[in-house]
Amino acid sequence: MSNLTFTMIKPDAVRNGNIGNILQMINNAGFRIVAMKYTRLSLDQAGKFYEVHKERPFYGELTEFMSSGSIVAAILEKENAVADFRTLIGATNPAQAEEGTIRKKYATSIGENAVHGSDSDENALIEGAFFFSGLERF
Ligand code: GDP
Repeated sequence: MSNLTFTMIKPDAVRNGNIGNILQMINNAGFRIVAMKYTRLSLDQAGKFYEVHKERPFYGELTEFMSSGSIVAAILEKENAVADFRTLIGATNPAQAEEGTIRKKYATSIGENAVHGSDSDENALIEGAFFFSGLERF
């Protein structure tokens, strides 16, 4: 089991002024930041990042949204990182997310749901490598 996961604070949460609140929740939950950057995806880059969802009906909406504003991308470290981070962020649809989760607090809809969290160790490595070189990890 890997101890790394990858996250993005999505454009809705950045626009709503929640970068600080979300980073505080991540910190309080015991994750260490290995790498972090404030950046913006082009439509083409968002399309590549979410390529696994290419056949889903919401792919166009998702890639438009993810390239609509700046994001914070980060690699996080903790024992059992992938599963523990999925617990911290809550269900994809904030209406179904548990109380106290990041999405319950800060997401507005199933599409604009404040944060991304890797769904497997394998994807955590792929997604982290999409944004960060070895020299950008500490
Ligand atoms: P996650 O692992 O909880 O992020 O959920 P998924 O892997 O199923 O979906 C990836 C992302 O696509 C979600 O975080 C949402 O931003 C978006 N998404 C999922 N379902 C829908 C949907 O029905 N409509 C729209 N517009 N976006 C969706």
